[in-house]
Amino acid sequence: DLLVVGSANADLVVGVERRPAPGETVLGSDLVVHPGGKGANQAVAAARLGARTALLARVGDDAHGRLLCESQRAAGVDTGPVLVGGAPTGVALITVDPSGDNSIVVSPGANARLTPADIRAAGPLFAAARIVSVQLEIPLETVAETARALAPGTRLVLNPSPPAPLPADVLAACDPLVVNEHEARYILGILGQDAGSAPQDWAGALLAHGPRSVVVTLGAGGALVADSRGGGPVHLPSPKVDAVDTTGAGDAFTAALAWRLGLGEELAEAAAFAVRVGAAAVTRQGAQASFPTAQEVAAP
Ligand code: ADP
Repeated sequence: DLLVVGSANADLVVGVERRPAPGETVLGSDLVVHPGGKGANQAVAAARLGARTALLARVGDDAHGRLLCESQRAAGVDTGPVLVGGAPTGVALITVDPSGDNSIVVSPGANARLTPADIRAAGPLFAAARIVSVQLEIPLETVAETARALAPGTRLVLNPSPPAPLPADVLAACDPLVVNEHEARYILGILGQDAGSAPQDWAGALLAHGPRSVVVTLGAGGALVADSRGGGPVHLPSPKVDAVDTTGAGDAFTAALAWRLGLGEELAEAAAFAVRVGAAAVTRQGAQASFPTAQEVAAP
């Protein structure tokens, strides 16, 4: 089973002609509300592929929290572990201008109240999980507790987004660490490593800092994987597609990778499937709405 530990946000989107200056009010389009947050996105992406998936997250006792849980259940995610209360559901306040550029304010809300004690209280879930997937939209101490809560033999998939300095024990627990180009540069930077080198070298460079394996996603360029158990870095090209909206591509990729690793596939094999899932997700608008089923990415 796959356990996703992470964030759940309501994305509140309004189109505007231009952004208001300080003290100014502008009128926008009708409000559109989408379920989002990297944890919620990954859980939906995995369940849609057919993975047995549970989400450990915290939402508020409010309409946004109920919307998020409904979208999880509709995809087949077990929402039994979702905790309710303590703060309003996390939201992202998003304005989109006519050129398509976003301005975003995130209020973490209940996500910031997912505590290490919540992780410890979820012990039986960890015993049942072959794979645990976590991101950084919840407190770092909660991520660190998640790494400590792993049962023997359970793999931890960590996507350090938004990027932050990772404690050495968390980095060492990653199998794999999954980063995009921006996150790779950031982490290599704080590790004092020259990230100016070519992306082909990043997976190996990150591997030298402690994770058991590393995946670097390269957008249309696919992904690179490196594994401490052997084999040089491998490049998995992404299928060529007409990209419509890349929102959620990384979440779809990571969910697919985690599911296939849980089935016992090798890292490169799982990543070869995940690049196809990421590519399928960019051919449709939105995040959760864009995630494909396993049939839709069946081998050509
Ligand atoms: P993130 O969304 O976290 O920034 P990436 O942009 O690297 O991550 O995308 C994750 C994966 O999604 C890639 O490895 C690739 O498989 C797929 N993908 C993203 N953008 C494209 C694209 N333009 N064409 C094809 N595949 C893409």
